[in-house]
Order: sequence, then C-alpha cells, then structure tokens
Amino acid sequence: MSTFHIAIDGPVSAGKGTISKLTAERLGFVYIDTGAMYRMTALIAKRHQIDFAAEEELVAALRKTHMDMHTPNEDEKDGRLVTVTLDGEDVSWKIRTEDISIGSSKVASLPQVRAVLVEKQQQIAEGKNVVMEGRDITYRVLPNAELKIYLTASDVVRAKRRHLQLLAKGEDISFEEVYKELLERDERDMNRLTDPLKIVDDAWQLDTTDLAIEQVVELIVGRVRAMRKE
Ligand code: C5P
Repeated sequence: MSTFHIAIDGPVSAGKGTISKLTAERLGFVYIDTGAMYRMTALIAKRHQIDFAAEEELVAALRKTHMDMHTPNEDEKDGRLVTVTLDGEDVSWKIRTEDISIGSSKVASLPQVRAVLVEKQQQIAEGKNVVMEGRDITYRVLPNAELKIYLTASDVVRAKRRHLQLLAKGEDISFEEVYKELLERDERDMNRLTDPLKIVDDAWQLDTTDLAIEQVVELIVGRVRAMRKE
C-alpha cells in the first residue's frame, strides 16, 4: 500500500497533540509534532541569548544543532506524547513552559527559520505513514496529504485545557493569564506574513468543543480506514 499522510492544523490547545498521537497509535502510523521544532528553536535562542527576532543568528544556530523525536521508551513514559532531543539531550519537558510557548510563536514568524524546519519535516515524512500536526501542514509541509484536518474548539475550552495542563506540570499561572496568552499566540499564528494558520478548502473541519478525545480519534480512524478500504 502506498504511503498515507494525515495533516492536522489548528489553533493552540485544540487537542492536536493527544488526538494525533492516539490516531497514529491506532493506525500504526508515526506521530510528528512539528510545534516541538519551533519550541526547540526558542530554547536554543534562550540558551544562546539570541533574540527571538534575530533570524540569521537563529538559522546559523539551527544548522549546527541536531533535532530528533521518538516514541517514548519504557523509562520515558511520564505523560509526554513524544520524546524530543536536542543534540542528544532530552528536552521533552523543557520546551513545554509558558516562556518557550511565547518564544516559539515569535521565532515561527521568521521565514528562514520556517524554511529550515519545513524541510526537516518533509524529510521525516517521506516514505512513511504519518500523522503530522502543526499550523501549516495542510498546505505547506504536506500539501498532497491524503487527509487534511483542521481541528478546533472554542477559545474558553482550549484555555481551560491548557490551564489544566500547566497546573498539572506545577506552573503557577492563573486562568486569565493562560487565556490571554492563548489568544495572543493564535493572533500571531494567524496573522504572520509567512505561512499563517489557515483553513484550506479541502480540510475536514472538526470542532472538538463538545467531543471527548476518544470520539474524535474514532471519527478520524474510521475515515482513514474507509479511505484505505480496510
Ligand atoms: O503546537 P505548539 O503549540 O507546540 O506550537 C508552538 C508554536 O510553534 C505555535 O504557537 C506556532 O507559532 C508554531 N508552529 C508553527 N508551525 C507549525 C507548528 C508550530 O508556526 N507547523
């Protein structure tokens, strides 16, 4: 059977990560979190004291670092969806803080940073069955994906989910702060000049506001199986 690519885009905390991961597990596909790469770029910037807007310095630093991702092994199963490494160092949790979230959406507005990361993402997907999620997957990274999905949920529900995730990790942050940061990040993602988050014509729009994660996964898996005539 030829390769099957599932491309999922959507705003902050629409459930893309969990839903993509579970869908990939059910179908035996590889899950790829492209947001992790923008997050690693922000982490590199922070560690090397590079400004989030310093495009050339960031690209130079990116070219010197090796980013990798794999399914968590037995020792790494601590609630993470994916293990993310930067030059071999496990940074899976270090990239999930609020300041890295904000930094990642800033570095994501730089065209040359995007070009480097998009190329890496396309290489990873080549010849594999994947569920890849992000903001520009349906039209830039995998424009020929067999299935394109735009996953969303109401702003309040997304902010509640994000707040719970952050509290569970021990971050001391109010709902109001999370809500404000989420709207600001969406606004940056939707209005940047290079490859903003958008809904493409051939995307299946799935609103997860009133759906449980399992229901959404079931819908996607059902559709893929029907498409592949399994
Ligand atoms: O998906 P996640 O919230 O981890 O992504 C972090 C940030 O990376 C997003 O706010 C967005 O600015 C950026 N991003 C992007 N394109 C992608 C994936 C993520 O611009 N394909």
